[in-house]
This record gives sequence, C-alpha cells and structure tokens, in this order.
Amino acid sequence: MDDSGFNFNNTYIHLPKAFYTELSPVPVRKPEMVTFNAPLASDMGLDFSGISTDAKAAMFGGNNMPKGAEPLAQAYAGHQFGHFTMLGDGRAIVWGEHITPSGQRLDIQFKGSGPTPYSRGADGRAVLGPMLREYITSEAMHALNIPTTRSLAVVTNGEKVYRETGLPGAILTRIASSHIRVGTFEYAALQQDKGIIQKLVNYTIDRHYPWIKEEHNKTLSLLKAVIEKQADLITHWMRVGFIHGVMNTDNMTLSGETIDYGPCAFMDAYNPRTVFSSIDHMGRYAYANQPNIAQWNLARLAETMLPLLDDEIENAADTIEEVVNGFGALYKDKWLSMMRAKLGLFGARAEDESLITDLLGWMQRVGADYTNTFQHLTEEKPPQGEPYNDRAFKEWYTHWQAQLAKNTKPLKSSLSLMRANNPAVIPRNHKVEQVLAAATNGDLKPLKNLLTALQEPYKNRSDLKPYQSPPEPGDRVYQTFCGT
Ligand code: AMP
Ligand code: MG
Repeated sequence: MDDSGFNFNNTYIHLPKAFYTELSPVPVRKPEMVTFNAPLASDMGLDFSGISTDAKAAMFGGNNMPKGAEPLAQAYAGHQFGHFTMLGDGRAIVWGEHITPSGQRLDIQFKGSGPTPYSRGADGRAVLGPMLREYITSEAMHALNIPTTRSLAVVTNGEKVYRETGLPGAILTRIASSHIRVGTFEYAALQQDKGIIQKLVNYTIDRHYPWIKEEHNKTLSLLKAVIEKQADLITHWMRVGFIHGVMNTDNMTLSGETIDYGPCAFMDAYNPRTVFSSIDHMGRYAYANQPNIAQWNLARLAETMLPLLDDEIENAADTIEEVVNGFGALYKDKWLSMMRAKLGLFGARAEDESLITDLLGWMQRVGADYTNTFQHLTEEKPPQGEPYNDRAFKEWYTHWQAQLAKNTKPLKSSLSLMRANNPAVIPRNHKVEQVLAAATNGDLKPLKNLLTALQEPYKNRSDLKPYQSPPEPGDRVYQTFCGT
C-alpha cells in the first residue's frame, strides 16, 4: 500500500494486450490543486495528511504516481452521432484499480494527462473550465443519488492549452467503478476473434455482475442486466431534467454509471426538445430522445455479443432483437413509477399517466421551470404567483388532489416521497458558467459555494435561494461546448 492509502490491485492489464497501451502521464510544468474532494478521498480510504500540498498536486498532476499504479490508456471504438469510429483514451490514462476499505474496486483515471497512441493528432490535454464542469456535475449527480463516475481532484498544469485561444490546462482525476464502455465491446467485436469478446464478457461479469457466473446463458444475462441498469439510469436523468449531451456509444458504461460529462446540462424551463450541445444540430441527444438513444446504443452492444449468443441460444438474432426492443416497455414502466413518485402517488392507477402528461404539457406551454414546479408542489399549499395563476393549472391541481386522496398512505408519506424525488437545487447552467468563468480568472470562491449548495439537494433551505432561480433572459445559456 502507498503512504497515502492507495491500494492497487490491477486486473484490466491482464486482459489481452489489444485492449490497452501501457504508458505514463506526460509530466506537467507546474501542478497546482484547484479543488480536492476530501470526503470522497476519505470514503476511499485515502489519507493525505502526511503529504505536502505540493506533493499532492504533483501526484494529481501526473508528475508522481503512487506505488502500485500501472498506468494505461484503454482502447475502444464507438458510434459518434450515429457514425462508427475508432477511438480510445486520447487524453486519459487509468492509473489502475484501487480497492477501498469496504472492498469496492475503483478505477482511478486521469483526464487531460497528455497524448496517447489513441489521440488521433489531438493534444491529449484538457482545459480547466470543462474539467471543473465535470467535477461539479458528477458530484451533483452523486448527491442526487444517480449512478455516476466521481471526481476526486482538479489540478492546473501551469501550461496553456490552445482552443482558439490559450486557456489554463487542467487534469481531472476521475473515479469510476470501471471504464468498460459499449465502445469497448464494439472494439472487441472488431478484432474478429470470438475469444476476445468472450474475455471481455467474462471480465465485465466478474467486475459488475458476479451473480451471472452461476447462470446458464451468461452473455444473454449480461445483456439483460445492462439493459435494466441503463433503463434505471435514463429514468434518473429524466427525473432531474439532466441532458447528457453526447450519448455516443463510447460514453455509455456497462456498469450503468453516467460517464463523460461534456456539453451536458440540466433543463430549466420544461421542453422535451431541449438540447445544449453546440454540435447536436439534429437534436439527436435532446432531453426526450435520451431513452430512444439508450436503446439504440444497447442494440449496438447486443450486436457485438451475437457470436457468443449464437453458441448459447437458438435463434440468437431474434432473441436479442426481442430483448433490446423490450427496453421500451421496461423504461416506460420505470418512468411511470418515477413520475408517480415525483407527484407523491403510491400504487399504480390507470389515470396516473394522463395526470402526469397533462402537467408536463402545461409546463411546456407556459415555459414552467422543471425543477421549481415539482419543488413548489412539495409545499403543502397550492403554489401562488406566476405561472400558477392559470385556469389550466388550477384544474390540474384539483385533479391531482383527487388522485392523492386515493392513496392508501397519509399525505405526510406522499410529501416525503415527493421530497426524496424532487431536488430543491440542481447545477443550473448559467450558474455553472459563472463559476467556471470566475475560476478561470483565479477566483475559486463561487466554485466552493456552488459545490456546498449542491451537497444536499433534497433539503430545501434559505441558503439555496441564489441557486434556485432560472436564468434571466440575458443569462440564459443555450449551448455548452465540448471545450475539449
Ligand atoms: P469525449 O468527447 O471526451 O468523449 O472524447 C471523444 C474521443 O476523443 C475520445 O477518444 C477522447 O479520448 C478523444 N479526445 C477528446 N479530446 C481530446 C484531446 N484534447 N486530445 C486527444 N484526444 C481527445
Ligand atoms: Mg468519451
């Protein structure tokens, strides 16, 4: 074990060599810590109290790897906006797998640590703003109880990174239960060697779904387990109004964690067509299209497994089509339960769906704020003021009250169900942009304040006020850029 508590036990490196390239991060000029996630470090069993600030920055800048790290860049492929491409960690390096005191296996990964054999001519670096965006958003998602990769540190490297103009370079340390992507399976399938796919299937089962080892049709069980996890994940995203922005197959994990926070954002006014990514001209990754895209990505995953499934079951192609098509009904069920919870409804009644879609339709018509509307409904009395002074809303409210009255549980239980599902605060894009601009100019105070506000998102309190208002027209951010 390293002095700081890193306890590596690396397994990815034992996969066939085609899956990775061993290499170290490129040393940086002047590493300086911008933000460090002390509670996460402590949960992971890490302790930096005996280490100087400079040594810690050197570690998280890539100049001094802890003992036991066996750094490597992973190979993968992926469908980007529907088109197949060879990819791989072009600016990321996995240090290895750390085992936490509770026995969890976690990848420690650098993002922005220099070029790799998969960089395709790009610089392998990352800019401070986008790395802080990932830090803020991933930690917010975790606090919202949504499966996600985490962020341990952001360090500036003392170097300029050129993106139209020179910007401060930075390295993010990301923590993930693994970095196995749909794109990793697509890459394995390309090797035209059933043995390679089999190894990846076995590895994924060992690492994420160990109970499948006992099952008869292992590959099919893995596919079904991943479909279930993704249906859960997308349901969570829809619950909080999260728009991933780049749901390419290389950005979808087999673990079911949200990964790769690029031009992502949370929706303010409810509109199912909301898109933030500056490069998503067709709205492929719009809010309401996320379940369809998840299913599309899962179909790509299923295809990679076909050679193994052919050995496992009869009519494999028909079976996987059926299983992947089943995503629609599975998701719909989960979405309905989730929306019922947002409205405090226990049980399941046929009229629930129209109650839900009526509210969403009204919200879209009047441009009501997604988060705040549900938050206001968790207050015991009817919400007042704009946009609620509206006959359609009042009628809807009466219907809802009638539906709530049919609950077998008391109103108090409905309210706590709602409060556990409707956040009081989300990282609104205009706030995030302000924080990133301040941090880029050296002022870290707004970042710290925002991170604090996002720690307990289900507890409404007065210090959240500055973070709860939707943007004024002048502050509205319509697009976020990949800013790679
Ligand atoms: P992302 O949009 O971050 O999911 O990245 C898509 C692909 O582009 C991945 O293979 C990345 O490793 C690669 N990539 C993104 N930015 C860079 C960069 N600055 N240098 C090298 N590769 C990059
Ligand atoms: Mg990616």
